Amino acid sequence: MPLRILKKGKMQQLDFLNREQYLFDSAIQLLKDCEPRALEYYPKGFIVGYSGGKDSEVLVDIFFKSGVKFMIIHNHTTIDTPETVYHVRKRFREWENRGITCQINYPRMSFWALCLHKKMLPLRICRFCCSELKERNITEYKFATHSFGVRRAESASRKKYRDSIEMGNRRDYGDRQKFHFDNTAEAAELSSCMRYRYYIVNPLAYWPDEIVWRYIESERLDLNPGYARGLKRIGCIGCPMAGDGRIAEFEQYPVYKQNYIRLCDRIIKNGRDSGKQYKNVFNDGHEYFEWWLHKSDDCYVDENQIGFDFGVP
Ligand code: SF4
Repeated sequence: MPLRILKKGKMQQLDFLNREQYLFDSAIQLLKDCEPRALEYYPKGFIVGYSGGKDSEVLVDIFFKSGVKFMIIHNHTTIDTPETVYHVRKRFREWENRGITCQINYPRMSFWALCLHKKMLPLRICRFCCSELKERNITEYKFATHSFGVRRAESASRKKYRDSIEMGNRRDYGDRQKFHFDNTAEAAELSSCMRYRYYIVNPLAYWPDEIVWRYIESERLDLNPGYARGLKRIGCIGCPMAGDGRIAEFEQYPVYKQNYIRLCDRIIKNGRDSGKQYKNVFNDGHEYFEWWLHKSDDCYVDENQIGFDFGVP
């Protein structure tokens, strides 16, 4: 049976092995369907975002198997785990030997300098660092077709807002149009008449966790050693989106914890040196760090806020 004739919603009726095959075939077909747009906007084809985590490992493998044209990029955040830094370099060397262009983008400012500049640590509702470190738009391929290992199963908000194809004219995708992988023809038609500038293809959008892990095992993919250390997610150490997961991360990487506390000390000192009068000022960096780690998720901060008012807690 040609798997592509299955429509949205029918996937649930398939048994596990057929679902895996269906999702794999659909991902390959999605890339083939979107390749003409990718080549029209950038001669090297798709720009594949590689974080060093398990989903992007699967993503790159699927790109190789699809036969479409692509290059791979990794945005270095300056707070990645050492394992991730080495793993990315190692994988990039291997993929370059297979003829794929791989590029590591370094930020204009480190995470530490950025926080000093903003006078605060990032918060769940004020993630100023992502746009600078993880989601930087490189002019050369700003309007190229990007591809990520984003999956709807990762969170409620991803389930609500993300899909197999996303396009928009605003950089923040505020005017986002999204399409299921069965609707590539409709997406291509809309894209050709509206000429949307930003375009993302997420071949793993509908992959549940268990199929990702099974694929990694069956294809014997080389995983980031951070997973063997017990990390649940690979990414920035101390990311506010990791919630309580940060506690385990700081236990695993105590040097980073010390760096964060030193950063908090400097933010407080710079605040005092600026001569501003703050209420409820933290006494030291340790106090600020502990509040940030355990209590900052409960506070309200205006998303447009730039500087940090020490009166927040
Ligand atoms: S710490 Fe979190 S919010 Fe900041 S750049 Fe990293 S992933 Fe984005």
